[in-house]
Amino acid sequence: MTGQGDSGSVEIEIRDLSKVFGQGAAAFRALNTINLEIRTGEFFTLLGPSGCGKTTLLRVIAGFEQPSAGSLRINGKEVAGLGPNARPVNTVFQNYALFPHMTVAQNIGFGLKMLGRPRAEVEATTAEMLALVKMEAMAGRKPSEISGGQQQRVALARALAPRPRVLLLDEPLSALDLKLRKEMQSELKRLQSETGITFIFVTHDQEEALTMSDRIAVMSAGNILQLGTPNDIYHAPSERFVADFIGDTNFLDLPVASVSGDSAGVTLPGGKAATARLPAGMLPVLGEKVTTVIRPEQAQMVEPGAGDLDGVVENAVFFGTDTHVHLRLDDGQPFILRRQNSAETAEPVAGTRMGLRLSPGALRVLKG
Ligand code: ATP
Repeated sequence: MTGQGDSGSVEIEIRDLSKVFGQGAAAFRALNTINLEIRTGEFFTLLGPSGCGKTTLLRVIAGFEQPSAGSLRINGKEVAGLGPNARPVNTVFQNYALFPHMTVAQNIGFGLKMLGRPRAEVEATTAEMLALVKMEAMAGRKPSEISGGQQQRVALARALAPRPRVLLLDEPLSALDLKLRKEMQSELKRLQSETGITFIFVTHDQEEALTMSDRIAVMSAGNILQLGTPNDIYHAPSERFVADFIGDTNFLDLPVASVSGDSAGVTLPGGKAATARLPAGMLPVLGEKVTTVIRPEQAQMVEPGAGDLDGVVENAVFFGTDTHVHLRLDDGQPFILRRQNSAETAEPVAGTRMGLRLSPGALRVLKG
């Protein structure tokens, strides 16, 4: 089972799509004029907090919900108005939804049987899918006789068996424990690259999104706030919500001393000068404060006075591979620093004064 088309071409094209639930005073806009293109063969993730509309968008793509306005094309064909069975997509749900009375193999072959495919084809595809998810040895067992992770593999195999162009995955790993979830994350990546199918994955887990996706759409209150690669989203968040939602971060409100091209000269607490990248099109006012973002691993501990900033350690939290040091800067703003540990590094002690050196390019100005 290989590629489904030219990777890089547009698989899903969403234009001005809105979804309103209810009517009149009770109307609720769950999706607000969404514009989005998902490429063929991409591992695409919809990421956002509970209630942001990510499941609604997935259900609209699947055909379980119809949009209130706008268009939705899959592989060039308008599908708004069509039901789930008339679309080249399949969905994997969080709760697996396997048939309890059927064996693993019967579950996997069920969709193909319903489509009226010849018995030989159903058997051959079932065998292929069992091998793909490494469940050949358990083909004859019932769902109650296999583990949660194995049930999830069967649910994946069942959804992949009819060879959909697009596989929709609605928080498929959230019922698994942490270790199994990590295993299934790499399993999903492997399945996606081996099948070449476009995967659209819904999660509220930022780490899962960062480690698995080719691109991520960060959603909030029915809107897509930012669309980009995991690297873009992590290192160049466009606004405060995105920066805050994706990993630990520091926000520093700093006065602007100069503006040149796509960067601003800012004054750090303590008076030293630094440069911060500006978002496209933003022209800050000289003397006024902007909100800047800096990731905790983009500052190094140095002797007091030897860096760009100074502060006092409030507490340090040991995580094994690294330690998170919570500081209070001299102007009162909080700052978290993440330090990589080795057997020799001593834990910072509360009350200690220390300097911080910022990595080049670490400071970025946020839009809002
Ligand atoms: P979660 O991670 O909690 O599943 P989500 O981001 O997937 O959240 P959605 O399920 O898409 O969120 O819901 C978005 C908003 O739309 C929520 O406020 C929800 O209450 C509302 N909503 C969803 N389905 C309906 C419905 N059938 N009728 C009315 N409101 C709905």
